[in-house]
Amino acid sequence: MSKIARFVIWICSKFTKNEIQQIIAGLLEVLEDRNPEVKPKDDFKEKHPHYRNFSVDPLAPLTEPQHLQQEPPPPRDWRDLLASYEKKYGKPLSPVKYRAGALRVPERTHCPSCQAPHAYLYYNDGQKRSQLLCKVCGELFQQEKRFRQAKTKYYCPYCQHALFTWKQRKEVTIYKCCNDACPHRIRNMNKLNEREKALAPKRRSQFKLSYQYREYHYQPQELTHAHPEPPTTDLTRIHNAPDILGLILTF
Ligand SMILES: [Zn+2]
Ligand SMILES: [Zn+2]
Repeated sequence: MSKIARFVIWICSKFTKNEIQQIIAGLLEVLEDRNPEVKPKDDFKEKHPHYRNFSVDPLAPLTEPQHLQQEPPPPRDWRDLLASYEKKYGKPLSPVKYRAGALRVPERTHCPSCQAPHAYLYYNDGQKRSQLLCKVCGELFQQEKRFRQAKTKYYCPYCQHALFTWKQRKEVTIYKCCNDACPHRIRNMNKLNEREKALAPKRRSQFKLSYQYREYHYQPQELTHAHPEPPTTDLTRIHNAPDILGLILTF
């Protein structure tokens, strides 16, 4: 039997027909919004327990990209790779042949993986000129990799994705992981019930799904409270009993 059906039986056991009619009239006033003092309980929060549920992510962000902390792959040298190419195919690997007018890779550029010189490197994304491919070892890399890495300060502890500056305020900067495939985000997404899943795309900012880190712009010692001037009398040193003090304060 449902909660409501049991409640109906309980009402009938306690009230007369006349009283029940008064109860119904009173409830109708509430339902029709004619009673300014009484409103039905808002069950939105019950149906959406994760709505506006802001909590602090327990893990601190990484300050270095994870791949720099991992064991570096064994070093490969372009000269060794060229030699083994020649041994395998019976002819040396030729440098990149540029068509007339094609963009050339600057001379100072070297492959970050095998140190091959610019003659073996070419742009992999045409006019954009940001992605380079090494003909010797097959490494794909970015021209301004160092510059790109310097732009972010923190990395997500769950997916190692760079955090972006989400909100910038005077007292705090909030960094957020924008990786849709982040395991932390997916875990939070799976906690949502069906109603919340339907609501989340419409009120994206009200569901905290992605990893966030708040960097406050002040030190703990700057947080000391302002306190009033110290009182001239010390109440612990008065010569009267506490009940006398109570009477004085009451008057
Ligand atoms: Zn290379
Ligand atoms: Zn992440």
